[in-house]
Amino acid sequence: MPPDNDPAALSRHPTWMEIDAAALRHNLAEVRRRVMDGVQIIASVKANAYGHGIQPVARILAAAGVDMLATGSFAEACALRDAGVRVPVLLLAGALPEAMGAVLARGFIPTVYDLDGARAVDQAAGAPTPVFVKVDCGLGRVGVALDEAAALLDDIAALRNIRVQGLYTHVSFNDSQGMAYTQERLRLFYDLLGSLQAAGVNIPITQALASSALLMGWRDNCTAVCPGHILFGLSPVAPDLAGLAPFRPVLRAIKSRVLQVRDHSSGPDTGTGGYHRNRRQRRTAVAPCGMNDGYRAPVDGHEAQVLHFGRPLRVIGVSLEHLTVEVPDDVEIAVGDELVVVAGDGPVGLHDVAAWQKQRPLETLMTFSARMPVLAV
Ligand SMILES: *Cc1c(COP(=O)(O)O)cnc(C)c1O
Repeated sequence: MPPDNDPAALSRHPTWMEIDAAALRHNLAEVRRRVMDGVQIIASVKANAYGHGIQPVARILAAAGVDMLATGSFAEACALRDAGVRVPVLLLAGALPEAMGAVLARGFIPTVYDLDGARAVDQAAGAPTPVFVKVDCGLGRVGVALDEAAALLDDIAALRNIRVQGLYTHVSFNDSQGMAYTQERLRLFYDLLGSLQAAGVNIPITQALASSALLMGWRDNCTAVCPGHILFGLSPVAPDLAGLAPFRPVLRAIKSRVLQVRDHSSGPDTGTGGYHRNRRQRRTAVAPCGMNDGYRAPVDGHEAQVLHFGRPLRVIGVSLEHLTVEVPDDVEIAVGDELVVVAGDGPVGLHDVAAWQKQRPLETLMTFSARMPVLAV
């Protein structure tokens, strides 16, 4: 089910995500501070803006002057346009050559990494059409291999309806070993750019640096950068390699409101069956934030909690549609009360919930992604 962004939906199914628009703008400004004047910022908003809601995120970034948005998903690119966002959209790999007609018809900039894709663009386009060419310089995912890139560009130059507007690569690393490898491989990408320039090949946009590199403070002579993680206050890099400060979390909270409060003092007893098996308190409360909303039970050995006016309540059950918590006697609780299921930071923060679920924070965000309305606050 697509999220229902009608505010009335919050009473029909009171579970939602709040994102911090000011933190997002702050993070974008912090990226701008780290690059040279005139360097374009292509914001990676793939995977539903790293789970934060691609439409509100894109509106905030576009209003803050981002140069281009990048996503791998055709449907998400269309959602950007439906949200009224007009900045250029780069489609990272994601569509088959046979879809190029649809990609160009919507005005998206396709990524090309082989001759089949280039020919498909050439045939689908009626006039010279901008594309980005992606080089794999060592990550080992999508792209034309470094040593085949010059030949591909030559082949593309012979096609009528295609113009290489951008040449980019993507690198990401987590630890110092990955960083050393990346430095070595990036040098080869910069060598390629140098030799293209020496041969008189003019490509307006070049780009190599994403979150890991920007967190390390790297700069280069490319004309653009393409960060994702750090815009959302997430780090792909181990904390001992680079701290995340001054980037701020954009996730404020995932919240759900209490549907029912139960008093089980007339039975069945704690420790018996059903949800009573795991219950220690007399009372329980239920909120509509189950697996279908993205919540996952903690792995063995961990206890999950939610916050009720800042006070932790223990989760005793996660089912398809419901989250059940137990409520100590000294807590006043009522139908409609807000529960913070995931906080941006602090107690019951994204890192805590991810640890209880034995996942990385981004994996936890992905389980909630596109399953609830997102409010920019
Ligand atoms: C995801 C992605 C990025 C952004 O990477 P982060 O590590 O999130 O900053 C940049 N470029 C490409 C091609 C990507 O796929």
